Amino acid sequence: MIQKIYKFGGASVKDADAVRNLTNIVKQHKDEDILLVVSAMGKTTNMLEKVLADFRQHNGELGFGALSEVMEYHERIILDLFDNKQDHPVIESVSNLFIELYEKLSQPDLDYDYQYDQTVSYGELLSTTIIQEYLNHCDVPARWLDARKYVLTDYRFRAANPDWDETRLKIQKLNDEHIRGIVCITQGFIGGTADGKHSVTLGREGSDYTAAIFANCLDAEEVTIWKDVDGLLNADPKRFANTIKIPHISYSEAIELAFYGATIIHPKTIKPLQNKNITLKVQSFLHPECGPTIIDNNSVSEDHSQLSTSHSPLFTPHYIVKDNQTLVSISPRDFSFMNEHNLQIIFATCDELHIHANMMQTSALMLSFCFDHNDTKCQSLIATLRDDFSIKYNDGLQLFTIRHYTEGIETDFIAGRKVFLEQRSRTTAQFIISGS
Ligand code: ASP
Ligand code: MG
Repeated sequence: MIQKIYKFGGASVKDADAVRNLTNIVKQHKDEDILLVVSAMGKTTNMLEKVLADFRQHNGELGFGALSEVMEYHERIILDLFDNKQDHPVIESVSNLFIELYEKLSQPDLDYDYQYDQTVSYGELLSTTIIQEYLNHCDVPARWLDARKYVLTDYRFRAANPDWDETRLKIQKLNDEHIRGIVCITQGFIGGTADGKHSVTLGREGSDYTAAIFANCLDAEEVTIWKDVDGLLNADPKRFANTIKIPHISYSEAIELAFYGATIIHPKTIKPLQNKNITLKVQSFLHPECGPTIIDNNSVSEDHSQLSTSHSPLFTPHYIVKDNQTLVSISPRDFSFMNEHNLQIIFATCDELHIHANMMQTSALMLSFCFDHNDTKCQSLIATLRDDFSIKYNDGLQLFTIRHYTEGIETDFIAGRKVFLEQRSRTTAQFIISGS
């Protein structure tokens, strides 16, 4: 039985040293029945998005420059890992992947989302191919699994949803086939349509979700997400000084944080784990000795020992900033109330356009909400509702959320910014503010 799922994101495999570090971690745990879920190396997904844009813009003819950058990046890592051996079999496997990728990039006139998934998915195919070879090279026997044959989904390209019954049937077989001491390795982020014909992706940063899907279907004990931070912190250290590591939190708290925009865990990751009571650990691949943040059903959700005593809140406040928000304000043109009827029309349009409101507020005549900036979606929303509603919008805003809010703790962060909207519930305060 496979017991543990280790997820390694792009930063943890960004160069040859990082891959060696991953290998050391895996070596120490290789008898613990592990499945590795690995992302594309470094910023490969971003690079491939650019490659695709170049190919589409130049009808597949001139995009080669951007593609060669991706090729050179992977080649450098391979040569470093395999002692500059030009004849190592991994070179041929990787070259074949690039040939396939080139063919898929060169097909003109395909639907963008469809072509995105057929091409950008190569980032993960490349990384796992290289890492499987390297594990074998280091005497860690590894079996490569094609996630497109296990994570079976619908046809919603770029945001595919697993068909859980089909996926479970496929993934469960891995438990019967599993041999102790052989580490399985598969791709995060990607899957395949149930007819076996097309690649899909689960949405950016979707590798955490892949790990949760495998864990759920295998009834695994735990998932560890290996990160370049020491665990789950109460704020992004790039934006806030004096962050605190949270040693232990509940699934429900973690899902709220992810929903508000804490990027440490993909928001879809928690549900499949909670449903099977599988522990989630977030641990540093740079300092594994530090120990993880543990996320589970435990209701004693925090260790408060690190808080000052004078006016300690019950929980550590968490600060979450989501950039690039568009705030829309919508009013019925006929001066009718913003009642259920009008809300229904607006939300049905949002549902159709896949616009997800991150925060909303209503008044007698107005609904305001913010969502992740997307020009096309915003213009479609305006076009669809224009006849019956007047719509105003602002771009480039930030959504600032404080979970376990106490009066006044927002002041430093929002000082000097314009507050467009604010809202407070019992536990949470949110502010839509001008960007920094
Ligand atoms: N490589 C994909 C991305 O960068 C998936 C992931 O890393 O989780 O979005
Ligand atoms: Mg990533």
